[in-house]
Amino acid sequence: MDERKEMCPVCRNLGYVYFEDENGRTYSKPCKCTAVKEARKRLERSGLAKLFKSKTFDSFMTCGNPLLEDAKRTAMQYTESFAERTDSDSNSLLLCGQVGAGKTHLGTACSVRLIDQGIPVIYMGYREEMTALKAKVTDEKAYRDEMNRYKKAAVLFIDDFLKGKITEADINIVYEIVNYRYNNHLPLIISTEKTLDELISFDEAVGSRLIEMCRGHIIVFEGRKLNYRLYRGGVA
Ligand SMILES: [Zn+2]
Repeated sequence: MDERKEMCPVCRNLGYVYFEDENGRTYSKPCKCTAVKEARKRLERSGLAKLFKSKTFDSFMTCGNPLLEDAKRTAMQYTESFAERTDSDSNSLLLCGQVGAGKTHLGTACSVRLIDQGIPVIYMGYREEMTALKAKVTDEKAYRDEMNRYKKAAVLFIDDFLKGKITEADINIVYEIVNYRYNNHLPLIISTEKTLDELISFDEAVGSRLIEMCRGHIIVFEGRKLNYRLYRGGVA
């Protein structure tokens, strides 16, 4: 992440702000910046900070491919107009299709931009986190806490959504997260190898909600020429 020591203009890094109620009593509450700091800390703990540093818009090479240029433009535009759509019912981003096309890269670049704008993004590596979640199922509190983190995050980036074998338990977890976020207009950033048709046929309730949430920001990678890894050349 960004290593600059940033001074929060609101709380001057105290982490909380004071406010007065109508009776003149003073209270304190956590400053908005604490959620961003928490998101950054979680990223660092997850070992993804390095990935997040390297997968920026600048390092996303389009090599003149119009489809990749369009994908990059759409993703950048998504972050630039993010604030205008906060409470809209289509404030999410879907990156889907072909393996190696740069979906994780663009999803990560968007997350970095949003975190830099002071919007906390929680990263969920689908396969690992689903396994971890299911392992917690016997510990009601730990399970609920983790589910709430994903359900209530200001922005949730699910990377490699629906990767691997999908069980009934997976569908239930995915539905609970997606449905909660859909009902509360909470944005998702999703990268997945599934096509739009596959998303719908996996589970119509989940698929149709996702497509509605991502309206206007659905990036589909298809076609042989799009294999981003082939274009990377010297870029690590
Ligand atoms: Zn602050």
